[in-house]
Amino acid sequence: MSSDPRYRTHTALEAGDAEGADVRVAGWVHRRRDHGGVVFIDLRDRSGVLQLVFHPEQGAAHELAGRLSPEDVICAAGPVVARDAETVNPRIPTGTVELAAAELEILSEADPLPFPVEDETVDISEEVRLTYRYLDIRRAARLRALELRSAITRAVRRVLDEADYMEVETPVLTRSTPEGARDFLVPSRLQPGSWYALPQSPQLFKQLLMVAGLERYYQIVRCFRDEDLRADRQPEFTQVDIEASFVSPDQVMELVERILAAVFDASGIDIATPFPRMGYAEAMRRFGSDRPDLRYGLEIVDYSEHAAASEFAVFRTTVEGGGVVRGLVVPGAGAGMSRKDGDDLVDEATGFGAKGLVWAIVEEDKLRSPVAKFLPDLAPQMGAAPGDLIAMVADEEANAHAVLGALRTRYAERYGLIPEGTWAPLWVTDFPLVDWNADEERWDPSHHPFTAPDPEHVDAIASDPGSVNSLAYDIVLNGLEIGGGSIRIHDREVQQRVFDLIGLSEAEAEAKFGFLLSALRLGAPPHGGIALGLDRIVMLMAGEESIRDVIAFPKTSTGGDPLTGAPAPVDGDQLGELAISQDLPEETSPGG
Ligand code: ASP
Repeated sequence: MSSDPRYRTHTALEAGDAEGADVRVAGWVHRRRDHGGVVFIDLRDRSGVLQLVFHPEQGAAHELAGRLSPEDVICAAGPVVARDAETVNPRIPTGTVELAAAELEILSEADPLPFPVEDETVDISEEVRLTYRYLDIRRAARLRALELRSAITRAVRRVLDEADYMEVETPVLTRSTPEGARDFLVPSRLQPGSWYALPQSPQLFKQLLMVAGLERYYQIVRCFRDEDLRADRQPEFTQVDIEASFVSPDQVMELVERILAAVFDASGIDIATPFPRMGYAEAMRRFGSDRPDLRYGLEIVDYSEHAAASEFAVFRTTVEGGGVVRGLVVPGAGAGMSRKDGDDLVDEATGFGAKGLVWAIVEEDKLRSPVAKFLPDLAPQMGAAPGDLIAMVADEEANAHAVLGALRTRYAERYGLIPEGTWAPLWVTDFPLVDWNADEERWDPSHHPFTAPDPEHVDAIASDPGSVNSLAYDIVLNGLEIGGGSIRIHDREVQQRVFDLIGLSEAEAEAKFGFLLSALRLGAPPHGGIALGLDRIVMLMAGEESIRDVIAFPKTSTGGDPLTGAPAPVDGDQLGELAISQDLPEETSPGG
């Protein structure tokens, strides 16, 4: 980093390597200590921390140093000298030297701080950290996460540039896109009564770019979805968006593996490619999830056959009624469990939508369970050993999957089954093209309506839609979906059959996506792509728990930004210009 020599000739880190040289450094007062007349300042810049020492003989500089407060911005000059052996600090890279400061200038004074920057052990509420995000980012953990994000982004760009992908920007003020979440809307002043939607992804534009003949497109792009927020969701988030023409699913997956290998490398982690693949149906059956965490086993065991022959009426009738009985065997989790703990497991499962839960603890010579007498052979039939906990549900298959999938994740965390520092990437493929929406009694696209059906299944679209797979693929890492995409439909006849299936009338399709449909009629190459969730990827690589920790200026869980105060009320004139009148419920004051 080159800087104006009036402020700095060396960064803190460079000065650490410049013993014997006269240097000038600039940065923030990280810490000040006064020791028997000698003033020590830890000066911090982006590169690290350097100790400055001011001896009383330095007169004015020493006197000024004694008045410095935390986070004042200063520059100082003098020779870099070796520290006395007993003051060497092996914990920092510059710890063998210090700058014997002869000059000191205060560039900017800091008022008393709302929280210490230097002591990261002090726990500060997220609201306060976000209100003063610029101070929070001065703390090493936050800065390192943003540095890692930048390194990861650079690695992604490098791979895509080398593979001849073109970076193209697409509009932010646009129309609703087909991801199916709620849109953020922006009123048009020039066309009162009309609204832009912020893109949930550049999906339609990237397909148009394929029709335009770009062949290989990418963009690191902000997407907007007005959904309820969670640790891994923000209203605006960043995707690595990719689309290519004349490609197979394998080629898209291979490109993504190269990108992710580079991402891991930038994070200092080795990862083997190719990644394993698993079909959706198998993932659901074995793990109860379309994004299974394969860092640990804990597979779902099917007990239906035994259940049908058992004395236990609930199990038997479930199977007779077409349902399933399945369960988990949690190694070692039964030790020390009480009856009350068992009841808590039942409550937990019903919280996930289970009709009930049968639990059993395997002991050396017996089974401890409310239903032990009905299921005497449960442990050997489930493959459980003494000390294990067995948790069983009886339900129709989809709900059993959902419940056991949720319990599997919960148990793995609670009973310590997740090995530290392991990485389990996985491709999930062969998704169903459509899901049955029982509430609305219709088929919904499981990805988006432009996802191509598996060509071998096309004929079943009308006769047996539930059996049709798509050419979609998701990339999963440690149980989080970090990306998804598909080969798209480029044939208008197939597109029409899919619209018919999902109940999108020609008029509706025309109104919503007419521009894409026209484009598909004017020479569309076969194409497909994917979008990777950059925030989630960086979160995993940084070892953080929330994507908020890897976004410079994130929103809180209620979608607000305490720093700027967004979202905020606007004045009536501004609304008038937009031809908007507000009719807020009594108890809602704007911004409240
Ligand atoms: N547009 C899709 C999404 O954002 C990804 C894709 O199909 O490329 O989920």
